[in-house]
Amino acid sequence: MSENNAINHEFNDKVRLEDDLYSYVNGKWIENAVIPDDLPCTGGFIDLSVGVEKLMIEELNALSKQNQIDDELLNRAINLYKKVLDNDNRKKGLNALLDKISLLDNIKDNASFRSYLYYLYDNNYTLPFSLGVSIDSKDATKYCLTISSPSLILPDATMYGSDSGNALLGVYKSMIKAILDEVGIQDCDDLINKTIAFDERLSKIVKTNEEWADYIKAYNPYEVSKACSLLDWNLKDFIHSRFGKTPEKIIVADPRFLDNYKELMEEHYEEFSAWSKVLTLYSNIGYISEEFRELSSIYSNALSGAKAVTNIDKYAYRLTDRFYSEVLGVYYGKKYFGEEAKKDVISIVHNLIESYKHRLLNNTWLSKDTIKKAILKLDTMIIKIGYPDKVEESYKHLVFSEDKSLYEIVEELSKIKSQYYDSLLFKEVDHSLWVMSGNTVNACYNPSFNDITFPAAILQHPFYSLSQSVEENYGGIGCVIGHEISHAFDNNGAQMDEKGNINNWWTKEDYEHFQEKTELMIKEFDSLELNGNKVNGKLTVSENIADNGGITSSLESLHRIKPDADLKLFFINYARIWCIKQRPEYEKLLLTVDVHGPAYYRANMQVRNFEEFYQAFDIKEGDKMFLPKEQRVIIW
Ligand SMILES: [Zn+2]
Repeated sequence: MSENNAINHEFNDKVRLEDDLYSYVNGKWIENAVIPDDLPCTGGFIDLSVGVEKLMIEELNALSKQNQIDDELLNRAINLYKKVLDNDNRKKGLNALLDKISLLDNIKDNASFRSYLYYLYDNNYTLPFSLGVSIDSKDATKYCLTISSPSLILPDATMYGSDSGNALLGVYKSMIKAILDEVGIQDCDDLINKTIAFDERLSKIVKTNEEWADYIKAYNPYEVSKACSLLDWNLKDFIHSRFGKTPEKIIVADPRFLDNYKELMEEHYEEFSAWSKVLTLYSNIGYISEEFRELSSIYSNALSGAKAVTNIDKYAYRLTDRFYSEVLGVYYGKKYFGEEAKKDVISIVHNLIESYKHRLLNNTWLSKDTIKKAILKLDTMIIKIGYPDKVEESYKHLVFSEDKSLYEIVEELSKIKSQYYDSLLFKEVDHSLWVMSGNTVNACYNPSFNDITFPAAILQHPFYSLSQSVEENYGGIGCVIGHEISHAFDNNGAQMDEKGNINNWWTKEDYEHFQEKTELMIKEFDSLELNGNKVNGKLTVSENIADNGGITSSLESLHRIKPDADLKLFFINYARIWCIKQRPEYEKLLLTVDVHGPAYYRANMQVRNFEEFYQAFDIKEGDKMFLPKEQRVIIW
């Protein structure tokens, strides 16, 4: 845990709780907290992540010194960790990287580009589209092939042309120039200008973050022949050689992009070639040495406001975790997560699900049919707590050549991973897979699996502890669990059934009623301001619905197991879990890209919707936390 430790802090006597719960609970800590130079923020979730990271680095350092470890996968993870720490060895990868990008110079036009596509895809080049295997949202027992648009240099398409966007592109350009100079590539101004020009063209045709937040609209099945003609590429041959046979359909996640793709590539191939060269170099240069990693962090630090590069131990841990996350997660879980806590958390989850059912049965705005289907979704929900019993099969393929440089090893591992995921295309989906590893400080609902996952690492104080009060546990992990369950019924989850398929299980009237409530939630958050910047109600609506449902179900569960519960403790711990101090750049960035609302309002706005909050602290009209009854929103 960092010295900042946001957990046991004093209240802030400069504000009244009745006017600002979040600042009353967290203000004093925030005032004194120092954000570590290599981070964009500090507090709650981040403190726990920093703590887990520190612990795991100590573990890996100790394990690195042992001669024999009786766990092959863990051995491989440790060997990768050691490779990252060996800066001299890393430098040997530069020629291989330069060879990789120089290939692009030989591909002179769009026609020859098409003939190279298989090779470029297989070798992890930055392509003008992304292609990959994912779970089929209309039949979650199967996989499907999805085509999507590429990521942009700026975090959101709406930022192009704005002052802040231009300033960030300026930083990007000078960083790339320095990298190109350092590796000895000529004509760098021309290369950079073409790169930016192509990215700007992309920004006009790809989805914005707000559009991506509607998951259902990313499911557009196309005939393979139609996708072929839009991509101007014999995708059928590619698919056949890559996957053995051709699927009936291909899912297009960003149709506007695909409609414009052909023209873009035909008319601006040279710009694309520069863009691909620069982006492929940029995404790999950090592996080459610590010096290059530092240089290539300039842009990401400008985005987040971080003042320094993470140290090499953290970098080594994160890169190892990128490839061997479940190996590290199982190790962490076995060593640090007890059976007693697991049993206790399972009972909280069941209690929360029970409350949900109870509330659904007493729901006054849904018909019996819709209620029945919603309860079916709860009854079939799979619960994953702590860490999986064993490391997933796919990890056994992750073998790398120990005599190579880090860059070459990353290439090798990335290739194995993407070949493995591609090999799943015609296989059945295994719903026992975990999407988060045990060492992750987070939790999630996976709509395709209808499952909820609570990794061991989040089951800590202040979210959860066997030694804190029941009220605090329900204000912490109870609300987080309720939040994840609520994702089954947020604006996206509500359109998917108990099997994880997009399927309308609502009556028309019920769904219209739900949409009206969703609109109220959008409106409630859309009006909010944070340090001069606006919250986007549409972008954050699914998470706000989930927070709202989380508090509702956790309060009801607490009430059932402890009728005389002290709700002050509940709400105070709820505000405490959102305690965070952010750099202004990062705060602004998140308002543009993050589907979660800012922590300040996740605490302060949500609690205002609950009568229990008014009663617990005797909040009255005139207090700033007061919201007239008719403006309060409760969905589930
Ligand atoms: Zn969520």
